[in-house]
Amino acid sequence: YLYPNVLHQLYWGYRESFLCIRLSFVDFNSFVTRTNTCGELRSAHVGQEVTLYGWIQYQRQGLFLVLRDFQGLTQIIIPQDEAHSHVKKLLSNAPVESVVRVTGTVSLRPPGQENPKMPTGDIEVKVETAEILNSCKKLPFEIKDFIKKTEALRMQYRYLDLRSFQLQYNLRLRSQIVMRMREYLCNLHGFVDVETPTLFKRTPGGAKEFLVPSREAGKFYSLPQSPQQFKQLLMVGGLDRYFQVARCYRDEGSRPDRQPEFTQIDIEMSFVDQAGIQRLIEGLLQYSWPEERGSITTPFPSMTYEEALADYGTDKPDTRFGMKIVDISDFLRRSDIQFVQNALSYPRGTVKAICIPQGVRYLKNKDLESLKESAKSQFNQCSALGSLRLESADLLEAAGLVLRNPTVFHFLWVVDFPLFLPKEENPTELESAHHPFTAPHPSDTSLLYSDPTKVRSQHYDLVLNGNEVGGGSIRIHSAEQQRFVLEKVLKEDSEVLSHLLEALEFGAPPHGGIALGLDRLISLIVDAPSIRDVIAFPKSFKGRDLMGNAPDYVTPEELEPYHIQVSWPLAEKEAKKT
Ligand code: ASP
Repeated sequence: YLYPNVLHQLYWGYRESFLCIRLSFVDFNSFVTRTNTCGELRSAHVGQEVTLYGWIQYQRQGLFLVLRDFQGLTQIIIPQDEAHSHVKKLLSNAPVESVVRVTGTVSLRPPGQENPKMPTGDIEVKVETAEILNSCKKLPFEIKDFIKKTEALRMQYRYLDLRSFQLQYNLRLRSQIVMRMREYLCNLHGFVDVETPTLFKRTPGGAKEFLVPSREAGKFYSLPQSPQQFKQLLMVGGLDRYFQVARCYRDEGSRPDRQPEFTQIDIEMSFVDQAGIQRLIEGLLQYSWPEERGSITTPFPSMTYEEALADYGTDKPDTRFGMKIVDISDFLRRSDIQFVQNALSYPRGTVKAICIPQGVRYLKNKDLESLKESAKSQFNQCSALGSLRLESADLLEAAGLVLRNPTVFHFLWVVDFPLFLPKEENPTELESAHHPFTAPHPSDTSLLYSDPTKVRSQHYDLVLNGNEVGGGSIRIHSAEQQRFVLEKVLKEDSEVLSHLLEALEFGAPPHGGIALGLDRLISLIVDAPSIRDVIAFPKSFKGRDLMGNAPDYVTPEELEPYHIQVSWPLAEKEAKKT
């Protein structure tokens, strides 16, 4: 794939468009023996003797080569005279992607040979001396041939993939954004960056957690799905404003665009309300938003959960285009279409539709067939129209209509979620819509004790272009209310959370917070097709590290201290024997 809207910037103008703006004051050459980076030289440097280090991008007929580092490309002229025959031999024979040092003089390119697309395109370096620091063996794929390689191969040789402009750009932009976030939170607003443990114990509800064996027989740590409990305990501890770039773990099995480990910008504040958290996040994103992605306007619009479901059929609506769901029950009540009448005869039975403007012009019969098939497979699910709306948008765009401009960013708050939802596997039982620490909406508190299904919560989600990029809530800070939610509504064993419940009894302040999903946010900002493109060493969608081959087997002896024995599935036992 190409990132259509960033590629032109990535290409030779990469350094110009991105690094110069923010990093013009940065010294990239401190502490090292190079004089310049490969993206730095201009006509102003003509006549200077320079030392560059980099990888050979390509080499042509023993005449010149292009040297690359993280910052750009420089054309190197290989000397042809007898006195430099050693240098010529060295550079002409070095394989592509070998890492070299060259020393030489900057000169202007001959007239007509300038390359205006390249920031260093006015100059070239005439080499005096060179050294091959490490030669490169035959590559499994060409570094610049990003489009053609399979993702599995890219992940197996991730360190080579990281040499590509795209990944360099993504990781550097990510680092810049995180730095700006730190600046905003810590320097401008007094947040404290606190690290919390990753070896902890099970939290009831929510995602499945990874277990880590301990040396105490039968006892396991859990890797936290988020620092939720710790950040609340930091508020009890009087930290007042906490922030962390936090690694979180969820053992959710294979999902195409999820990672078993991922990063959140995790935030908690004391004495704050929902509006306070929302203004903080808007300010944070505005401050850290990369200039080359345009600007974002605040405050972000807000929509209730109920409105989102009614108008868009999802709690994370893509508001970049219309095609809202409309209720046409009244209109159809007079019709004599039997199945419609049947639907309307149910209590709360409705008929809803979406209008696809220009559908007649752009949608072909096969598109309509595929929409029909999807509708059938999701029959009776309320979310069906929401996904048909998105599918129709995909079909229209595939046919050439631009509905969702990839350079436009639509943020949206979704608020007033229900506090509890029926459990998917057993709808007579309730589970938290967010997590069990979420406070009820102030106007619904009394309903908590009489009809919990009707309680709205103080939970808010941040949605960007139809993707959930953050979520948080104002928390319960009364031990009594928290115990009631855990024991009476969720029917959880509150003993596992006795430390938190006890902490709430020691003058816990009212508090609330939020977490932004950093990987997803960055992938949307750079318009990457997958979050794996903004993570240096991602896992495959089956949760494996294809480079180091993790997870891996350990021997029975290594398992002994943990009092664990593997009970091999029969097939694997047989396979091991042979
Ligand atoms: N810990 C929550 C999550 O990971 C976010 C929050 O409530 O602050 O979704």
